Amino acid sequence: MRVSSRSGAAIALIVALYLALSSSQVALVSHATAQTAPRLDYTIGIADAPGHRFHLKIAVSNASGSTLDITMPAWTPGWYTIKPYAANVIKLQAHDNGKRLSMRAVDKQTYRIETGGLRAFTIEYDYLANDLSVNGAELTEKRGYFLGTNLFFYVPGHTTDVPATIKFELPAGWRIATGLKRTTEPNTFAARNFDNLVDCPTVLGDFDEETTSVDGKTIHVVIDPKGQLGDEARASLKEMIQRVIGSQSRMFGGLPYDEYWVLFVGGDNVRTGGALEHENSTNLMVGRMPSDPKFLLGGVSHEHFHAWNVKRIKPAGLVPYDYSHEQYIQELWFAEGVTSYYGDLHMMRAGMITSEQFVQRQGGQITGLQSNEARRWISVDDASTTTWLTYTGGGPFTVNYYNKGQVLGFLLDLEIRGATSGRKSLDDVLRYMFENIYKRGRGYTDDDVEKAASEIAGRSFKDFFARYVHGTEELDYNAALRHAGWRLDETQADQPNARAAVQYRIVELENATEAQKTLRRGLLGQTGNN
Ligand SMILES: [Zn+2]
Repeated sequence: MRVSSRSGAAIALIVALYLALSSSQVALVSHATAQTAPRLDYTIGIADAPGHRFHLKIAVSNASGSTLDITMPAWTPGWYTIKPYAANVIKLQAHDNGKRLSMRAVDKQTYRIETGGLRAFTIEYDYLANDLSVNGAELTEKRGYFLGTNLFFYVPGHTTDVPATIKFELPAGWRIATGLKRTTEPNTFAARNFDNLVDCPTVLGDFDEETTSVDGKTIHVVIDPKGQLGDEARASLKEMIQRVIGSQSRMFGGLPYDEYWVLFVGGDNVRTGGALEHENSTNLMVGRMPSDPKFLLGGVSHEHFHAWNVKRIKPAGLVPYDYSHEQYIQELWFAEGVTSYYGDLHMMRAGMITSEQFVQRQGGQITGLQSNEARRWISVDDASTTTWLTYTGGGPFTVNYYNKGQVLGFLLDLEIRGATSGRKSLDDVLRYMFENIYKRGRGYTDDDVEKAASEIAGRSFKDFFARYVHGTEELDYNAALRHAGWRLDETQADQPNARAAVQYRIVELENATEAQKTLRRGLLGQTGNN
């Protein structure tokens, strides 16, 4: 936490704010402006359900000066693509008890309101929600779904320091599923700031909901539309989610939130699928629920691991989030690829896949990387930075940082285990970053990852990062695999239409030593103390 304040009173306010937040929600409160900044409180209703229009009312208070700028996000954190949310705003007006205030557009998503010194007034508009997407919003007669980046204006410069309330005015019988905090007022929720407000995807209507508990924290599993899974399948899905979350909780010594929402949002009209991570929830877009809910677990394992890696252990370039334009960071290989590696690891640790399947998957990732010529041209750092060009739909020539990042995570894990005779692992790097970077209110850079890995392994990873993270050298697979008594085996694909001409598999090293086999059992969770 960085504090810049001028008076003791301001410091006291910050300390009070800080203490008011649970230890799991260390906010990056950077300015003592909560008392002086304009405050926005939101009411969400329905203007026209068949016409897909929400109605938004924002009560502005604590304004100062003769004008106030309000702006809409241009993207949703975690989904690295620009989207014209402001284009869906309809009949925007600001008024003082019905008396219209003049306003003008400053840029494509920002408006300047002539307040004439008013402290409080109202902003109203409809929002066209006809985009059932992982970063979109939809309203029909049966349900509503949105991410706050779609719907809500904010005051530029005040995304981290001003709390807000959100009140829902909904048809009778509609329920609300959201990670936002309930208040004592009915249908009213509280957000600690704009970041928190837009980090809570929300499902409205009549959905299936199961709840369970892991290490004292409530986990909600919501399936919308309802009725897609029978009682037994829902119970089994809940139990599997509980096991995966339990495995991740054991790695970090507890869960970093008060409660968590797994939101499966579906329908035949899903435009952009995928899933998105949030501090205490995930929205997973599924056209239709699969008959075997086990197929959903890989996505849950990945997204839930993000509750640590990227939502709390956060690249410095995302602190704070800037919703107005692209934020360029080179650490997505770690934020996404290493998360994918842990998605697989926890699927194995929770017994969702076998150790053979886990090893096979890592071989599959190596095949994917080695069959991509771009790996010799584009570093994984650069692929992260330029992801905004290719995030939706891919590109003709790019490195997939989910793929190379996962392979790098696997190799780092093997190298750390190798350097410490299996006493330490990549788990320790993640725990180190959670304790020493996130909990100290900082974001991380590639250098922080390199230093953490070097410190934990007791050997330098400078060369590893220079060659494979910042550079485009071929990875030395066998050097890493040898620690676990493995080697890489390559075979020409026997199918002429196979996606990769050469298939890579991880196989047993002839005459692997006992020490290597012990290290392998540690990685595969076969020693009881991984
Ligand atoms: Zn992810």
